[in-house]
Amino acid sequence: MEQQKVVAAQVQAPIISSYNDKIRPLIDAIDRLRLLMVMKEGIQLPTIVVVGDQSSGKSSVLESLAGVNLPRGQGICTRVPLIIRLQKDARPRPELYLEYNGKIVPVDESNIATAINLATDEVAGHGKGISNTPLTLVVKKGEVPDLTMVDLPGITRVPVHGQPENIYEQIRDIIMQYITPKESIILNVLSATVDFSTCESIRMSQQVDKTGERTLAVVTKADKAPEGLLEKVTADDVNIGLGYVCVRNRIGDESFEEARKEEARLFQTHPNLSRIDNAIVGVPVLAQKLVQIQASIIARCLPEIVKNISEKLNANVSELGKMPMALTSFADATQAFMRIVGAAKESLRKLLWRGEFDEYPDDSTKHGTVRLFEMLNLFSDELRKREESEPKKEFLTEEIKVLEDAKGIELPNVLPREAFLRILRIKVEKISNLPIEFTEKIWDYIDGVVMAVLTRHSEMYYILSVSMKRAAYNLVQKMKERSINRVKEIVEMEKLTGYTRNPDYMKEWTQLMNQENSFISQVNTRNPMSLPCRMNLEGFGDIEIEHLRQHSNNTLLVQQAFDLKMRMTAYWKIVLVRLADTMALHWQYSVHNLVNNDMEEIVKELVGADGLGIERMFVESPSMAAKRDKLRKSIKLLMESKDVVAKVMDRIASYDA
Ligand code: GDP
Ligand code: MG
Repeated sequence: MEQQKVVAAQVQAPIISSYNDKIRPLIDAIDRLRLLMVMKEGIQLPTIVVVGDQSSGKSSVLESLAGVNLPRGQGICTRVPLIIRLQKDARPRPELYLEYNGKIVPVDESNIATAINLATDEVAGHGKGISNTPLTLVVKKGEVPDLTMVDLPGITRVPVHGQPENIYEQIRDIIMQYITPKESIILNVLSATVDFSTCESIRMSQQVDKTGERTLAVVTKADKAPEGLLEKVTADDVNIGLGYVCVRNRIGDESFEEARKEEARLFQTHPNLSRIDNAIVGVPVLAQKLVQIQASIIARCLPEIVKNISEKLNANVSELGKMPMALTSFADATQAFMRIVGAAKESLRKLLWRGEFDEYPDDSTKHGTVRLFEMLNLFSDELRKREESEPKKEFLTEEIKVLEDAKGIELPNVLPREAFLRILRIKVEKISNLPIEFTEKIWDYIDGVVMAVLTRHSEMYYILSVSMKRAAYNLVQKMKERSINRVKEIVEMEKLTGYTRNPDYMKEWTQLMNQENSFISQVNTRNPMSLPCRMNLEGFGDIEIEHLRQHSNNTLLVQQAFDLKMRMTAYWKIVLVRLADTMALHWQYSVHNLVNNDMEEIVKELVGADGLGIERMFVESPSMAAKRDKLRKSIKLLMESKDVVAKVMDRIASYDA
């Protein structure tokens, strides 16, 4: 009797001494975070995860640690992750309850197994399927270590009757999910009766923890295979970094007290088992080790958790802030709409009118005033290039032909107006496509800028964005058409008559005409060597005049042709500059109208005659609403978590003081 007491004291002592006032609040904090499901937010918590092949004795080990009955035995009993929170508690009667699906269900110690099975059925459905939704069993008792562990479904290769075909894959996925995070400690339960290297649970834990630095092995059923057990754990063929603890669990209907006594007796007296170092045998040793490991992983992980919670919280808050407000009233929607239109107009004014690029500092394609100026220069160059490519060989041939055609009842020395206009029309016709192409190019560019700006300001409201862009497209197309008509008019005007008050015209013409006498005499003089006659004419370069000799009997015609050519040359310069100038003024005018007045047409089109329709545009897509809801929930959760952690950190600080 006396001796029995000593054994019992020995059994309990390590568990009691493992209790640590400083650690308890930390464990509580982590458990609260776990209950809040911060893991859903991707924040990993330090967790002791119990894994083992089926019937390796997982449930029995947990039973031994908790001192309560757990579903045990053949078949697959653990079908969902079971979080077991053991809390040392001074109250005389043990308190047990299950937490799942947001419920707290008190449990009677005598029928935990039944309660767990009922709860399992509730979260995983009846039958033999498994589920990833965890149950939490809280055990508050006088003689338990402060420990939280997760029991996972045992690994089974062959589905039994009623189990899904892919049961192995399902279980493996759950286990991997729990043991992969570096915050997890793997409690690998191995039966002494098997070769450890063949254990599926060893294979899995080695995949995520090669060196074994976070794996602890519990060898069960030491009573069943005592021979060679010492050699097995000392050889450590399977790389267990945190070491082995050999235990003997409760068998049959033994009480937990009896089981502990029997275990202690076994390891003290058995010829094989007594040779194993006392520091690695027995459930109390296991409890103590686990408590220590738990304390150190919590201490190690806590700063990271604090940091992760803050980061996640900040990220979510800023993402929520970026989301558009849900606009429900007509007044709110109207206000938001006017704000968006106003902002878009201002952006367009900056880009296309004022040349302020602060909103698109790096995207030079949107720097409208600069790009439009460039396009205008290109247009002007293009006009001039058309001119240069005109043939120089047939000098005056066209003019002579036109003059002959225009002969009428007139004095012979009058230059017919019709001849000038005919040449002018031909020349304008040749370049008439350029101003139109230029106008199209400008409007296409403006369209691109308008779309980009509208997207930027309205993308948060999908329907609004689409409708606005459609209205803007229609507007731009309308303006483009108007512009092209105007440009066609400008071109037609140039064809209709030749007119300028620009003194450059007369200056240029007079200068060119100074060459008339020498030109005519060149045409009329026979070259003694009878070489083809050429001459250098200012403004034209080296030209051939041989072909003009056929008209040497009609000097007046050649003179008139020369005059016509010189007038046209002087005048054409004026035409080109005038076209470029008019185009520049025209697009300035159009852009000004667009950004200051015509954008209002978008408003009119969207609002409609009766002002209805705006609210409809601000209706949120369901995915948007769901996203906002999710963010709100997760912010709430993270704030609570932050609170939990802050409190425990304060307590730690007060201990240190
Ligand atoms: P689990 O499937 O891994 O949860 O394994 P269980 O805890 O349900 O145990 C499977 C079987 O092994 C049960 O019949 C237990 O009673 C038995 N068992 C577990 N541990 C020991 C032990 O240390 N010694 C003996 N003899 N049997 C044990
Ligand atoms: Mg089990």
